[in-house]
Amino acid sequence: MQHESQALPEAVRGFITPTSKKMLIGGKWVDAASGKTFVTVNPATAEPLAMVAEGDAVDINRAVEAARKAFDEGPWPHEKPAERTKVLLRIADLIEKHKDELAQLETLDNGKTLFESRNVDIPGAIETFRYYAGWPTKIYGETNPSDPSFFNYTLREPVGVCGQIIPWNFPLLMAAWKLGPAVACGNTVILKPAEQTPLTALRLGELLLEAGVPEGVVNIVPGFGPTAGGALANHPAVDKVAFTGSTEVGKEILKASAGNLKRVSLELGGKSPNIVFVDADQNAAVAGAFMGIFFNQGQVCCAGSRLFVEQKVYDQFTETLANSAAALKQGPGLDKDSRIGPLVSQEQFERVLGYIDIGKKEGAQIKVGGEQNKELGKGYFVKPTVLTNVNNSMRVAQEEIFGPVVAAIPFKDEEDVVRQANQTVYGLSAGVWTRDVSKAHRISRALRAGTVWVNCYNQLDPISPFGGYKQSGFGRELGLHSLELYTQIKSVWLKV
Ligand code: NAP
Ligand code: MG
Repeated sequence: MQHESQALPEAVRGFITPTSKKMLIGGKWVDAASGKTFVTVNPATAEPLAMVAEGDAVDINRAVEAARKAFDEGPWPHEKPAERTKVLLRIADLIEKHKDELAQLETLDNGKTLFESRNVDIPGAIETFRYYAGWPTKIYGETNPSDPSFFNYTLREPVGVCGQIIPWNFPLLMAAWKLGPAVACGNTVILKPAEQTPLTALRLGELLLEAGVPEGVVNIVPGFGPTAGGALANHPAVDKVAFTGSTEVGKEILKASAGNLKRVSLELGGKSPNIVFVDADQNAAVAGAFMGIFFNQGQVCCAGSRLFVEQKVYDQFTETLANSAAALKQGPGLDKDSRIGPLVSQEQFERVLGYIDIGKKEGAQIKVGGEQNKELGKGYFVKPTVLTNVNNSMRVAQEEIFGPVVAAIPFKDEEDVVRQANQTVYGLSAGVWTRDVSKAHRISRALRAGTVWVNCYNQLDPISPFGGYKQSGFGRELGLHSLELYTQIKSVWLKV
């Protein structure tokens, strides 16, 4: 196996040894029943990084049995809430203790810069577990003013066994968003990480055991979507499935869930409008447009990939943005000076370059970028790209590219931009840049999106709900709203 192991600390080198990584089922590290493994690749070099057990329907079944037993026989769902708090706090502390190692592992597996994995992914995962650690002791039922000859009250109980399927763009952070609330509410889980990025989830599995998560409460089964993921979505003994990924697969999950009517929450794609008015602080807006699309190589579900700029400043604005893009330091994620890394995989690399070609054929102009960064060797590097001369009906304006490619579209006025911004099947997020407070509020209400950022972008906090309108999915993760996803309500009547 070739990788830049020399430069890595012992802990990371040890974790990616040629021995294949196992899966976590019922508190034990086991091989796939089939004995199969798959390779995860370092996107900066296109070289193999580690071998991982390839779970399929048989392993999912074993994991569901373990999760079922841990739920039905306990103790986790009936544990004193304060005990669950302690375990969640220990998880957060252990991630913090190993934060450098986890950041390096994330960068190796996903390609993202160490700058981002250190400052965003790992701290975000820690905060998420800490936030949900506070909830177990604050999940209340109600007493209801019913007929006085009865006492009626509600219990908010866990949903049961949860299948959680996550993508590769924020591997550890997405695991935290899913596991934190599920486990806090007393559920048990089978987590399937993305095939491109299973490593930090597996390392997290080791930390979960160390933190005292009882066996079977969290099972981690790496493998492929149609086999492992499909088996989870289909499984008759799974009570809920939570999915983050493409809208296309989200629809498959929903269909598969019909078998036993399991609960479903979906956090899907986006083509989010980021709207810049003439009256905005132009420097701040350029910085926001830049971060909105180039953060994490643009592989962000809420990326501001449709940039609407008021006609009067369109040329100047796109020029400045293109200059900043040209100056962005691209390189391997482990290089501490890199500010944009490679895309996650060969497939994603081809998809993004394919969309740039589509854009050209549709008549878009490449203001900057638009090609592979060949200076960086075999890795999946695509230069940060600004497309101008785009109109909102082009494919590059309507389809999720999921790469460092922004489609810049001019607009006339407020009415025009609200209409265009809402002309999309998606509705995950939106940005508005203006100094006019009334306009900011009017537009925030008019946009059909789950999150609106005014004079900021990509702002996230475990305290604030996140999720989509329209085909960006349903259900809200984070904040107190995710308790709705992971609990159900029982009404108890007692004759007085
Ligand atoms: P994807 O296929 O939707 O992958 C997301 C997760 O679903 C992965 O764990 C995947 O497994 C699993 N999966 C795939 N097919 C499945 C099935 N039939 N049943 C159950 N689970 C299944 O996304 P992708 O192929 O990695 O990326 C494709 C596009 O999706 C991207 O270009 C982007 O547009 C979008 N995307 C959106 C988000 C987001 O945060 N909203 C994240 C990632 C991608 P494996 O990967 O292991 O096969
Ligand atoms: Mg990888």
